[in-house]
Amino acid sequence: MSAIDTLPPLRDVIATHGLSARKSLGQNFLLDLNLTAKIARQAGDLTQCDVLEIGPGPGGLTRGLLSEGARHVLCIEKDSRCLPALHEIAQAYPGRLTVLEGDALEIDPLAHLTPPIRVAANLPYNVGTELLVRWLTPPAWPPFWQSLTLMFQREVAERIVAAPGSKTYGRLAILAQWRADAQIVLNLPPGAFTPPPKVSSAVVHLSALPEPRFPADAAILSRVVAAAFNQRRKMLRAALKGVAPDIEDHLHAAGIAPTERAEQVPLEAFCALARSLATT
Ligand code: SAM
Repeated sequence: MSAIDTLPPLRDVIATHGLSARKSLGQNFLLDLNLTAKIARQAGDLTQCDVLEIGPGPGGLTRGLLSEGARHVLCIEKDSRCLPALHEIAQAYPGRLTVLEGDALEIDPLAHLTPPIRVAANLPYNVGTELLVRWLTPPAWPPFWQSLTLMFQREVAERIVAAPGSKTYGRLAILAQWRADAQIVLNLPPGAFTPPPKVSSAVVHLSALPEPRFPADAAILSRVVAAAFNQRRKMLRAALKGVAPDIEDHLHAAGIAPTERAEQVPLEAFCALARSLATT
């Protein structure tokens, strides 16, 4: 492992601070600083940006982001045991790292960030998916972030970049591709993590589009797509029965056959359906 900074290797950091991984917090750590620097590079040019990192743990990715030149990194970490290790990193990079202790689902980080802002995280997948959906569905666009560089289980990453007609196409693909360019930029085997998870992982990079690909209200689109894919084997006229009493008329208005199944319907048609529903 080559030195990217003057701090101790992560294995030593973990031993010194007693950071045994906790399953309840989804802790699978990245200890190879070459790998974390590589992930940080996928986030783009960080030198003029603030970076929001969720779930830094012992700080492997944090060190990657800082060594790759991030102007400022704001970390939110739920596990208080990690704070001493993160404070050591803050000392090694004076004025460039701020650490907040708490649940990223509860904390609003915006008061601590100056645009342009990029987001990077290796999070437990359930927290990652919940945050991704929130970051993609604010009422107004563009969002506070320029890009998101996020680690997911490989299967979740595939759902984010999926095309219509594929088995993995669904709510995540539509919400992500509606307002961002999304691609898988790195695949990681379980052995890249300590302890190794059961499944492979992948890093997804999403860049915010200046405006959504097609007009639609975020809340309506979200609701329609959730209902449509909740019963993905059903015809849309049945799957969307609860969304509006005259759903067949709206489907026709959007150019969608009511007998179609959600996984065949492209993003543009879902946006047209959301626009039609907005008029009721
Ligand atoms: N980023 C580190 C790395 O790559 O080695 C740690 C990754 S580990 C998969 C996930 C981290 O997210 C853990 O440090 C865990 O404590 C933290 N975490 C889990 N849930 C969180 C939440 N709701 N808010 C903030 N941090 C959370």
